Amino acid sequence: MGEFIGRKILVLGGSRGIGKAIVRRFAKAGGTVAFTYAGSKDAAEALAAETGAEAIQTDSANRDALIATVADRGALDVLVVNAGTAILGDPLTFDPDAVDRMIDINVRAPYHAAVEAARRMNDGGRIIVIGSVNGDRMPFAGGAAYALTKSAVQGMVRGLARDFGARGITVNAIQPGPTHSDMNPADGPMAPAMHSFMAIKRHIDADEVAELTAYVAGPHAAMITGSFQTIDGGFGA
Ligand code: NDP
Repeated sequence: MGEFIGRKILVLGGSRGIGKAIVRRFAKAGGTVAFTYAGSKDAAEALAAETGAEAIQTDSANRDALIATVADRGALDVLVVNAGTAILGDPLTFDPDAVDRMIDINVRAPYHAAVEAARRMNDGGRIIVIGSVNGDRMPFAGGAAYALTKSAVQGMVRGLARDFGARGITVNAIQPGPTHSDMNPADGPMAPAMHSFMAIKRHIDADEVAELTAYVAGPHAAMITGSFQTIDGGFGA
């Protein structure tokens, strides 16, 4: 598993959950990996010590800091935008500032990070955003704001794939369904309802999402672009 030896990889939001599994996957395959985090300093430092990856504290909601962090990495081979938050519940009770912060992290940050990475990215590079099957399907109440952010990722992926295609840079979204993490624990209160929408009724493992991400970032995926790679146990079927 040395397919990323000599490759420079940045994972935005890598300290926990799906991002952590992605950092581990690329590091195990020999990549030179850096990742960002916002609040989880201890977890980030532990992951850096475990994998040899570099941990960088950058809040994705801070646009200028995010752009500077991406620019500082120079010519990347792979950018993975994983950082995301979810606000679920009765929209009539949401704090509008919290909704806007989610939009900043889930929509504005992927766009600005992708564009900044592409300025310096090596030809044949990979830009991957962790979207969600909720970009395609929102089968329960309370998810409108979150779903709008993940549908927005789809439009961005389609457009940027065309902007950067001449350089062989691919732009794709990975769209997980319910995946075990702090955000969505397999034994959480919403798990039975989520499983009811799935053909295979269990949470996805973060390592399964990381494996698909590595495939899309790898040498066999040069012609996969502008696409949404869904890994959802049939949630959206
Ligand atoms: P977690 O809440 O478990 O982890 C989120 C990660 O993103 C943490 O490393 C966190 O870092 C980082 N992060 C969050 N906000 C920021 C920020 N403002 N700046 C920098 N980093 C940030 O979430 P998951 O692992 O479950 O989710 C990861 C992605 O996958 C998200 O985009 C989510 O929408 C998507 N997804 C998740 C699904 C699921 O069921 N779990 C299903 C479909 C999509 P820190 O702790 O340091 O703040």
